[in-house]
Amino acid sequence: TSAEQRRRGATVIAVANQKGGVAKTTSVASLGAAFAEHGKRVLLVDLDAQACLTFSLGVDPDEVETSINEVLLGKVDAAEARVACEDGVDLIPSMIELAGAEAQLLPRPGREYVLRTALEPLTGDYDVILIDCSPSLGVLTLNALTAAHGLVIPMPCEMLSHRGVGQLLDTVADVQRILNRDLEVLGILPTMYDGRSNHAQAVLADVGERYDLPVLSPPIPKTVRFAEAPAVGRSILTTARTSRGAKAYRDVAAALVKSL
Ligand code: ADP
Ligand code: MG
Repeated sequence: TSAEQRRRGATVIAVANQKGGVAKTTSVASLGAAFAEHGKRVLLVDLDAQACLTFSLGVDPDEVETSINEVLLGKVDAAEARVACEDGVDLIPSMIELAGAEAQLLPRPGREYVLRTALEPLTGDYDVILIDCSPSLGVLTLNALTAAHGLVIPMPCEMLSHRGVGQLLDTVADVQRILNRDLEVLGILPTMYDGRSNHAQAVLADVGERYDLPVLSPPIPKTVRFAEAPAVGRSILTTARTSRGAKAYRDVAAALVKSL
């Protein structure tokens, strides 16, 4: 299949949802650490001007000299921007100026292909590249979807939280038609799941059918441990090794790792 043919290099997975606060960044950091535990060579790309992923991996966005910003503008190679993090993963950091880079990309030809092209020289160095998207469907997220083989859509199991998924899926269909035929939705990742809540159970049961998409398993439980992790620059997989949240991310990663 085409999926197997391209597996000579890294599998690129975008983690996107145009809503903020749905656990995109938490999922990228945690899945990345989990893939690294499997011995996979992992690169994380922070594509959000808020730089939360960068910060959560112990890199100060204000001190970053070479970021995804310069990579997208063609000023440096992606290899020069990456830094090694304590979680056993490499990171291409973000910084606040990324918002400006987005504006500078807009008038450029092939603007949706910039990230894909920039990452190409690195695909031999990694087994998996995870892209943390910003909460929008703008040109940066289009770049992520164009660079990706797979898309994971984190979605809290709360009322109305899946409004907007339809809009994201419309964008995905456009990307598949025009920019990247190979893009495959790997699934919805249910996050912040409170198993005691009937409503959360109902949302979880309904969402896959409603959008005709796979639902990744298990759901990630809601736990305060996630709030504590970024303060020390490590993901929950190290700060709370045996917590339910860490275990859930490990199990999701173990299922995904088979398709890398
Ligand atoms: P996004 O990147 O989609 O904006 P984040 O990953 O930054 O979302 O998560 C938003 C907030 O929710 C953060 O404060 C994070 O610590 C918290 N959070 C993420 N996952 C969970 C969870 N499973 N349980 C409790 N809090 C969580
Ligand atoms: Mg985020």
